Amino acid sequence: MTVTRFAPSPNGPLHLGHAYSAIAAHDLAKARGGRFLLRIEDIDGARSRSELAEAFRADLEWLGLEWEEVPAQSTRLAAYAAAAERLRAEGLLYPCRCTRAEIAEAAREMGPDGPVYPGTCRDAAFDPQDPAAWRLDVAEALRRTGTLAWFDERAGEQQARPELGGDVVLVRKDAETPASYHLAVTIDDAADGVTLVTRGMDLFPATHVHRLLQALLGLPVPAWHHHPLLLDETGQKLAKRRGSPSLADRRLAGEDGRTLANSLRQGRLPSGITLGEGLDTPA
Ligand code: GLU
Repeated sequence: MTVTRFAPSPNGPLHLGHAYSAIAAHDLAKARGGRFLLRIEDIDGARSRSELAEAFRADLEWLGLEWEEVPAQSTRLAAYAAAAERLRAEGLLYPCRCTRAEIAEAAREMGPDGPVYPGTCRDAAFDPQDPAAWRLDVAEALRRTGTLAWFDERAGEQQARPELGGDVVLVRKDAETPASYHLAVTIDDAADGVTLVTRGMDLFPATHVHRLLQALLGLPVPAWHHHPLLLDETGQKLAKRRGSPSLADRRLAGEDGRTLANSLRQGRLPSGITLGEGLDTPA
């Protein structure tokens, strides 16, 4: 059975791009007689706000969607810690204390998420007392898994190329937010029984990393559906631009959410907004 999901982070209100994503996942599940899940990605303790999660539910209902809610990320910290421990015990993680500025300075190439970490700390001496982020040794991980493939319903068969993003952080230095997005989302999708990961093209490069993590942690491999993005006049991924109303603003102003949802389904977009792959847009 097809199980899809919408996984918003409650650190800002939902906008039209989120509505498009939720509708895409919902409709894929319904068309296949499957299940559509909502998962609140509230791992970022400092920035997550529970009242926003409440507004998200009201937004989805307003759009006319039906969903099953699965446990939020904040309930799964122990599972993330256990997975990180396993990878650490297998010698696949190393501590890193570089600041963003140091990485920007040392980086030799740009990846999908900005400067690619050049591996500065890979062989550095480590005082276990000092707080550190833990990075995945991608080259070593790939040596152990061999070549990996994944399948996107729109883009077709892909060879996993996690090296494009460098040695990503799996455990953050910040004790309040122990797991990174990559680790948390991979574990959650497996725990929730997701068979079709539906999300925007901006996260296409992240899937290379998730496929590698699935192989390392022995998790089932879903299919992916990376949908096109709503882009603004400058071709950038739609974000909550100055003056562009959030879904909650529209809902509270009395707009009909089901009509809006049907317009998005039919590709009838507000003026200035287009649908595109947005591949040049940093995630
Ligand atoms: N929580 C992520 C976001 O709001 C989405 C994660 C995903 O769909 O994999 O951008």
